Amino acid sequence: MINDPFESSVIQIKNAGAKLGLSVSELDRILEPQRVVKVSFPVKMDNGMINTFTGFRSQHNNARGPYKGGLRFSPDVNESEVKALSSWMTWKCAVADVPFGGGKGGVIVDTKTLSKTELENLSRSFVRAISDVIGPTKDVPAPDMYTTGEIMDWMVDEYSKIVGSKQLATFTGKTLGNGGSEGRTEATGFGGVVVLEKLSEVKQLNPKETTVAIQGIGNVGQYFAIFAKQKGFKVVALSDSKTAVYNENGIDVERIIKFKEQNKTLVGMPDVTFISNEALLELPVTVLVPSALENVITKDNAEKIKARYIIEMANGPLTPEADEILHKKGILFIPDILSNSAGVTGSYFEWYQNMHNEKWTKDDVLHKLEDKIGSAFDAGYKMMMDNNTDMRTACYMIAIKRVNDAMKDKF
Ligand code: GLU
Repeated sequence: MINDPFESSVIQIKNAGAKLGLSVSELDRILEPQRVVKVSFPVKMDNGMINTFTGFRSQHNNARGPYKGGLRFSPDVNESEVKALSSWMTWKCAVADVPFGGGKGGVIVDTKTLSKTELENLSRSFVRAISDVIGPTKDVPAPDMYTTGEIMDWMVDEYSKIVGSKQLATFTGKTLGNGGSEGRTEATGFGGVVVLEKLSEVKQLNPKETTVAIQGIGNVGQYFAIFAKQKGFKVVALSDSKTAVYNENGIDVERIIKFKEQNKTLVGMPDVTFISNEALLELPVTVLVPSALENVITKDNAEKIKARYIIEMANGPLTPEADEILHKKGILFIPDILSNSAGVTGSYFEWYQNMHNEKWTKDDVLHKLEDKIGSAFDAGYKMMMDNNTDMRTACYMIAIKRVNDAMKDKF
């Protein structure tokens, strides 16, 4: 069973590479990250002790521009995961056609065990440890799981101190007052709904009759639910890590998000019907939107999926074995590298504004996102139809071709 994220990414690249007719040496150049940095760094704790933490930055490919991708703070961070995630960033940036390569990093830490001061100390110390390998035209990190705009602000400040001048464009996802971009927070969820609208167009779905189940109520799931409802789709389920709220006639998205914000959990919410997260995945809905974790649809439950379409908003929620089963069942899935690419596209817009001293309005940003993601969907869909393949392979074909073309003269 393929549950190792890096192994999954290698299979996905090989499948698409074979269809493109890439040579072994061309494939070899894009499978492994160009550099993986592992650091051990000290952090001063509130009790006066100095604790040592481990962190990573994987730089997969920079043929099309600086490495780009998030930093996650989580107890589950490991080398295989950051390597896979950095590779996915390369393909994501290429599919969305933003001029970046792929990077990803993280620190092994449970942020719930840290005070705010300790979190700040850890963020700053990690930046000191990786300062040599990042920079606005080298590698531009951003928030990811359990990292926020405030953390990016601390990181920019620390990096700026090291190099002796303000370097806003070294990190994206910063707060609005500190060089962040309008629309960046909602970008990923918004882009997912652009994909949903495109899908309804090509499949001639009527939004009012299109039921949508969303796994995950983090930043991505929340904004997906809000925009989907705004565009007239029928959101019927939304979950957090413990439970899911379901109503086949539609759920009150705003009330659920508010309850989650106030209580930190959906457990105990009055006047709603609960189902398990596993049951959410198996609902007879039109569109299923896994927006939380990797590997939630595997060979063990793929047969039981009843949705007609899947939009991957998390990174890597379907395993390659699940892909095969779903494709055979005629379920169309839109891959993460396309459906959640509005996040990094929003980051590109932030980086661009920082580099050019500009400030765009939220409307500007959302319109530009709509154009970019809409065109990426059209190109992916055409590639899928022309090659009689699944949408993941089609998007990888587009991305790999772009990266391979950019690498032709590099050896
Ligand atoms: N962490 C986000 C992702 O996985 C965004 C990365 C970025 O904006 O650089 O796409």
